[in-house]
Amino acid sequence: MSNLANNYNRKKISFSYGKGSFLHTKNGLKYLDFVQGIAVNSLGHAHPKLIKAMNKQAKKLWHVSNAFTIPEGEELAKKIAKKTFADYVIFQNSGAEATEAAIKAARRYFYSIGKPNKNRIICIKNSFHGRTLATINASGSKKMCEGFGPKVSGFDHFNFGDHKKLKNLINKKTAAIMVETIMGEGGIKIIPNWCLKGLRKLCSKKKILLILDEVQCGIGRTGDFFAFEQSKVKPDIVPIAKGIGGGFPIGAVLMNKKVASGMTPGTHGSTFGGNPLAMKIGNTVFDIITSKKFLNNVKNNSQYFHSELNKIKQKFPKIIKEIRGRGFLIGLQLFKDQTNFINALMKEKLLTIKAAENVIRILPPLNVKKDEINQALKIINKVCLKYK
Ligand SMILES: *Cc1c(COP(=O)(O)O)cnc(C)c1O
Repeated sequence: MSNLANNYNRKKISFSYGKGSFLHTKNGLKYLDFVQGIAVNSLGHAHPKLIKAMNKQAKKLWHVSNAFTIPEGEELAKKIAKKTFADYVIFQNSGAEATEAAIKAARRYFYSIGKPNKNRIICIKNSFHGRTLATINASGSKKMCEGFGPKVSGFDHFNFGDHKKLKNLINKKTAAIMVETIMGEGGIKIIPNWCLKGLRKLCSKKKILLILDEVQCGIGRTGDFFAFEQSKVKPDIVPIAKGIGGGFPIGAVLMNKKVASGMTPGTHGSTFGGNPLAMKIGNTVFDIITSKKFLNNVKNNSQYFHSELNKIKQKFPKIIKEIRGRGFLIGLQLFKDQTNFINALMKEKLLTIKAAENVIRILPPLNVKKDEINQALKIINKVCLKYK
């Protein structure tokens, strides 16, 4: 019997160690891991540079309070500010905390300029922003909110693509629009660039804030550091997490100067957020991923993966409905429930994970090798051949 609560429908399998794109069981089985902790291990398992950085920092200093200056955090925030739209950063430990801090920052900004009633956030129905009370209510998912009442108010919802409803929802109480640039859990649904541009225009016109949740699609996953970069749009607030820690729990909310002006001393905090150990690792991940060569590799290898997947789709037009996504945030949409397909892939030693709309999410590490991609393609092809 397990003493872990039953809040996950866990598979029976467990792993004893990982290396790069692979996970190993204690019985000597080897799996190609294209889940990577759900887009978390951006550099795969046991990356030597991350091990080195962690070991070095572990001997020096793990944790001090944010009551003191933490140079490793100063360094990472500076790098982020230099590389992105952001002027200021607050470090957290997870994606839900980061999105929740994003909501807080938006509300606090309007409070700080004397508009405390401007506090409602507009979100996409059945999006995903985390599992805290506020973020499940932000998602507007009936399933995630069920049994967790009373409802946390302050969120309004429109369906993906329903621009008319979105425009109608904006009123004088609206503080921000918050969307995932690419909906991850929702089935790898991309908000097209023209739409992101439209969102930016709309927010600027209505003098409200644009929050782009890049927790899953950010940090190089799409081949750009942020998924929104292609659109040339500048958001006001961006929560990040997953990939930035390479497997170590790190989250952050990135803000422009205007928004950050509301976050004065005492307004927000986190005991663990941005501690020296986390920040040393975050710096190391950031340095590797932001190199031009690294991101170009993500672009090239992922383009190859997409085009080969599309060939498989053409071969099996009755099984695969669509290849979705960008970069290494890939969705293989089936015509029917994907559970059996995922299990069949696992039998062939390829790990993938579900998303909504019958989508199989394929999330290799960003430094995946071409022959590993080929190995995955072979398995997917094989499962399609046997699949009924
Ligand atoms: C995973 C995810 C979150 C929540 O992150 P946690 O670290 O699980 O709290 C928030 N937003 C998006 C888009 C995510 O994919």
